[in-house]
Amino acid sequence: MDAAEFRRRGREMVDYVADYLENIEERPVSSDVEPGYLRSLIPTEAPLEPDNYDDIIKDVERVIMPGITHWNSPYFYAYFPASNSYPAMLADMLCGGLGCIGFTWAASPACTELETVMLDWLGKMLKLPDHFIAGTHGRGGGVIQGTASEATLMALLAARCKTLRRIRAANSELSEGEIRSKLVAYTSEQAHSSVERASLIGDVTMRMVPTDSTYAVRGSMLKKMLEEDKAAGLIPFYFCATLGTTASCAFDNITELGPICNKEHVWMHIDAAYAGSAFICPEFRPLLNGIEFADSFNFNPHKWLLVNFDCSTMWVKKREDIIGAFNVDPLYLKHENQERFRSLKMWFVFRSYGIQGLQAYIRKQVALAKEFESLVRADKRFEICAEVVMGLVCFRLKGSNDLNQLLLKRITNSREIHLVPCQLSGVFVLRFAICARSTDSRHIQHAWRHITQLSCELLQENH
Ligand SMILES: *Cc1c(COP(=O)(O)O)cnc(C)c1O
Repeated sequence: MDAAEFRRRGREMVDYVADYLENIEERPVSSDVEPGYLRSLIPTEAPLEPDNYDDIIKDVERVIMPGITHWNSPYFYAYFPASNSYPAMLADMLCGGLGCIGFTWAASPACTELETVMLDWLGKMLKLPDHFIAGTHGRGGGVIQGTASEATLMALLAARCKTLRRIRAANSELSEGEIRSKLVAYTSEQAHSSVERASLIGDVTMRMVPTDSTYAVRGSMLKKMLEEDKAAGLIPFYFCATLGTTASCAFDNITELGPICNKEHVWMHIDAAYAGSAFICPEFRPLLNGIEFADSFNFNPHKWLLVNFDCSTMWVKKREDIIGAFNVDPLYLKHENQERFRSLKMWFVFRSYGIQGLQAYIRKQVALAKEFESLVRADKRFEICAEVVMGLVCFRLKGSNDLNQLLLKRITNSREIHLVPCQLSGVFVLRFAICARSTDSRHIQHAWRHITQLSCELLQENH
């Protein structure tokens, strides 16, 4: 393909993507293919001679689309959102064109510098304390990671390194191995599975802290575990708090937890993968109070801030902690896996929407969740299972877990809307997350009509 053909094919691709997104409602939201469906649709080996581009494009509808779950369909209410916006897609295209890899400042100065400034812009939108903002001569700063899972792991490894140094400095007779075997990390029993995985990769014990009736960790619960473990000769070193849990969007009480962690030399990392985006709205910012106690903080603009995957933003209080652990460029907070020019899409999105546009987007999605909540509350056959704070509604039919499992199965098989379940206190719950940018009131109303219709059928059969 030469530049002339690229111009033509590029325009066609833009049209294809715009048509796809404009007409996405016409496609069933989830796929009905069987595992292994794709192998039989394409040759077993790569072509020796070049294929024709028209054939490649035709195969997108024939081979790929049948196996796509349409995350940007307004009938997609599963997991959490995967942001997507036109400015971000255009920036990604430019990023592909530049094709530079910014692993050091000199490898592409604009890559490193734009990233640092974008993390400051975003940190200021969230009103993060000054020490997280690189441009304020603070000791901290921000960096883009691929995923929240990576950020959680990176914080755990940095905390482990920092603790090893501190304990060895005071106890030179202890070997690194001896100290390591005593390290204990903590997180909520409601934390994302990636937090426990980080402890497996980091080869340290992790203990799950129980939560209160709102699924939040309170200071007293962590304090009790720290005391038990210290009495047993162990070394608590890391606590991962969650703001906006995946199951029910619960918020750990970081104003209680932060001072405890600080006093005990326990690194507090905050995982706000989903909810973090909402903190750009003043009405949600109080949920971030206590951030001043955190050693690191992370959320995913690729979840809820209109920046396409992947873009997970992480801030640390002290750059030297990360630099010490990973031996990276001390001038800029970067680590060895620094990849593409991901800050470009932040820059395009922040400028195209403005802070007000982004706030309006978050507020609209929260309002849609509240609309769904009131539909559920008005129907006595259903119950709400957790407080609706942001864009997630946890609900269920009053009745057995089996009944709700059956309802979800019918919803899934209908392919009209897509939901996933969660467990809360042993109860099977349906999660309704507002995801797509194009979701509107009429989609919510349609989804609810569909759910109640399937429920009616189910309840009649069970009588
Ligand atoms: C989605 C989610 C994650 C995982 O995010 P990735 O970027 O896919 O690693 C972690 N924590 C919470 C609370 C989440 O909701």
